[in-house]
Amino acid sequence: MRKLAVFLKPYAIFIAASLFFLVAQALAELNLPNLMAKMVDVGIKNGETPVIARLGATMLAVALVGGISSIMVSFFASRVAAGVTRDVRRAVFSSVIGFSSAETDSFSTASLITRTTNDVNQLLHLILMTLRMMCFAPVMGVGSLILAVRVCPSMSWILALAVGIVVAIIAGIFAVAMPKFRVVQKLVDRLNLVSREHLGGLMVIRAFGTEEFERGRFGKANADLTAVNLFVNRIITVMQPAMSFIMNGICLLIVWVGAREIAASRLLVGDMMAYIQYGMHVVMSFMIVSFLFIMIPRAAVSADRIAEVLGTEVSIANPARPESRDRSKRGLVEFRDVSFRYSGAEGDALRSISFTALPGQTTAFVGATGSGKSTLVNLIPRFYDATAGSVLVDGVDVRALSTGDLRSAIGFVPQKAGLMSGAVSTNLRYGNAGATDAEIGEAARVAQALDFIERLDGAFEAPVAGGGANLSGGQAQRLAIARALVKKPSIYIFDDSFSALDFKTDSALRKALRSYTSDATVLVVAQRIGTVMSADRIVVLDEGRVAGIGTHRELLDSCPLYREIAESQLTGEELA
Ligand code: ADP
Ligand code: MG
Repeated sequence: MRKLAVFLKPYAIFIAASLFFLVAQALAELNLPNLMAKMVDVGIKNGETPVIARLGATMLAVALVGGISSIMVSFFASRVAAGVTRDVRRAVFSSVIGFSSAETDSFSTASLITRTTNDVNQLLHLILMTLRMMCFAPVMGVGSLILAVRVCPSMSWILALAVGIVVAIIAGIFAVAMPKFRVVQKLVDRLNLVSREHLGGLMVIRAFGTEEFERGRFGKANADLTAVNLFVNRIITVMQPAMSFIMNGICLLIVWVGAREIAASRLLVGDMMAYIQYGMHVVMSFMIVSFLFIMIPRAAVSADRIAEVLGTEVSIANPARPESRDRSKRGLVEFRDVSFRYSGAEGDALRSISFTALPGQTTAFVGATGSGKSTLVNLIPRFYDATAGSVLVDGVDVRALSTGDLRSAIGFVPQKAGLMSGAVSTNLRYGNAGATDAEIGEAARVAQALDFIERLDGAFEAPVAGGGANLSGGQAQRLAIARALVKKPSIYIFDDSFSALDFKTDSALRKALRSYTSDATVLVVAQRIGTVMSADRIVVLDEGRVAGIGTHRELLDSCPLYREIAESQLTGEELA
């Protein structure tokens, strides 16, 4: 909660303004019962019309000041609340954008969505309520108490009784409902998680006929949330009539006792009427403050959840003084004794990996699924940092480069295409906004995507759905390849990017790629031996270790694992 206080700072003037009008409103409202008492006791009793008219006009003026002040309070409070929550949302977004893979692994997407929407809304309500009520209620409460006691000290016990009852009721509710309030936010999180899984996996659910099971799972999350919400609302429902009962009871008690005081000439009628109003203000103020005490912990949970996102230390940070890349080693990628372990994992995903990938050459990585190929290439653009050893790009440790500089040198084609919604051309220009039509056409031709793009309705301006949902796997992959080619980096990384392509397209693509990327460093992860056979250097991975490095020919002789993989995929003729 305290961590979010900085967001209030820019709005100090608005907050001050709303507090100023709040005090003005309280003062105006505190004055009204007094004026009314005078009007009744002096004006009406003695039948003095000028006094009534004068007091009436004053009351009107005071009421007007109170009304305008109240509007101003709302105006400034809304400004603060809307502004602060906008800033918080922006901060959360830029914080999440800066997350490395390690941090996104630890927060679920559903939770991040709840935090930017629902939790921020809680915060908005809290700020509004605090500014409008939290400061108003104590001023009104204390002011009314002082004025009431001044009017008639002998009836003070009634106010004490009223406050006692209100506090007792609220304390009871506090004890019962508070734990439930805390649960609500967690349940909303769970509901979002379950919904997200369902929406993402509809096809799988249908294919496996598990609608009933999933319906039950969703139903459970939904029912839990409903139960808690019902409980909370029932309490609030009981609360309102109870409070109204107390207020009316107090009113009755004041009239009952006041009547005797009036009969004994110790109290004026107008003063008793004022006393009733002050009494109501006192009870109301206590109620409002107690309600806020219920709301604050709930909003505090939300605030903590937001602060958690904002406070997450990004594990991949820019160095304070980034080094510049060595131009003479442009494109050089070197692993020196690199080991890597995912946080929370039992064993190392990569162990003592060393190799060098040279510009103008293709370096390929083969190995069974889970052998660490993707993990290895993810270390180059610093999606993760090596646990031991160092990764060098252009002769400099990647941790010493600014991430922007490092990544501008790399064209990365991920295992999942990861296309954005927008036109085909927008996607192709993603890494190089200034690319000409000729350049993106050339990249599409090399990536073997030109044929199918031209067949799309609108060709390069055809829409791509988010995640490439309206394209086939192979089409999306080719667009992702073309996107990297448009960037014209000095290092290309293809993580299993050819797996969804048929053999013919695969070999045509590799041939075209060779001339397009002639002086760049090309790193290719592949399952198929056919894809990597012609590489200048092949790194064979086995459970995170290097099992062999060499050309296809060399490895067939020296690396039994490679020979085994090759034999399972190639004909005897190709092996010879
Ligand atoms: P490959 O690409 O060769 O199929 P990966 O590099 O994806 O293999 O995975 C290597 C190992 O690391 C596997 O055992 C996998 O379970 C583990 N792994 C991959 N990604 C993560 C992750 N985000 N968190 C924890 N473990 C992971
Ligand atoms: Mg992989």
